[in-house]
Amino acid sequence: MAKVTPLVPIDCVWTDSHCHLDAPEFDADRADVLARARAAGVAMLVLPAVQVAHFDTVRRLAHEYGLAYALGIHPLCVDRADDGDLDRLAQALQAHRSDPRLVALGEIGLDHFVPGLDRARQAHFYAAQLKLAREHALPVILHVRRSADGLLQHLRRTEVPGGIAHAFNGSDAQAAQFAARGFKLGFGGAMTFERALQIRRLAASVAGDVPVLETDAPDIPPQWLYVKAGERTAQPPARNEPSQLPQIAHTLAALRGWSLEETAARTTANVRAALPRLAAL
Ligand SMILES: [Zn+2]
Repeated sequence: MAKVTPLVPIDCVWTDSHCHLDAPEFDADRADVLARARAAGVAMLVLPAVQVAHFDTVRRLAHEYGLAYALGIHPLCVDRADDGDLDRLAQALQAHRSDPRLVALGEIGLDHFVPGLDRARQAHFYAAQLKLAREHALPVILHVRRSADGLLQHLRRTEVPGGIAHAFNGSDAQAAQFAARGFKLGFGGAMTFERALQIRRLAASVAGDVPVLETDAPDIPPQWLYVKAGERTAQPPARNEPSQLPQIAHTLAALRGWSLEETAARTTANVRAALPRLAAL
């Protein structure tokens, strides 16, 4: 009889592959937020930076709480950044190149959804940061919003060691191209909405070694935390937090027909494959 290798039995230990724990929304109760995440089984979080001013914070949080971090300049932050910031990123990558908790370059990318952004400026920062990722042999954490083709074009020019396309909401063909380049796709709160037909279809149909789970907290609250626009005056907008990850994972498990244990094992293995340094932590 053929020997079947069981998946690593890690009893629902979850990895939040994308969480902005450094965000000011968590200033008042960050330690509690993390304690709730740990109590829910979320053992590891990846904290991507969005701007130079946060580099020290994500690194400090990662070391203080035993987490992982990434350094990068987010496309929605490039308006306030300049080439000096790219130099500062290069210096930080150099200074911390032996830091085992620095697992990727990110969050970087292109946002073609938010109106009024300077696309050429975004492309300049994205291209420069891909070159840094290649130089440092680091995977990248990508922000993809209506920009999958543009991101892929740059990746053809500047090959990097894969990474994660976070909060992915592209076409099947775009998903296949990212996967062919060694990228995992991030699924989170958006997947929990029944009307998110394309995201749900992707979550159900991509190869089993592709999906990773994320909260993107404090952003992208799942359906059960979401406050409708008309009700927002009455109550503050919902804050997402990493303890929501196992609940979000239920949706992925249901869509794929995986047990929760299998969902935890596979998605954690996928994050580790995308971010090899994470596996050593
Ligand atoms: Zn993000």
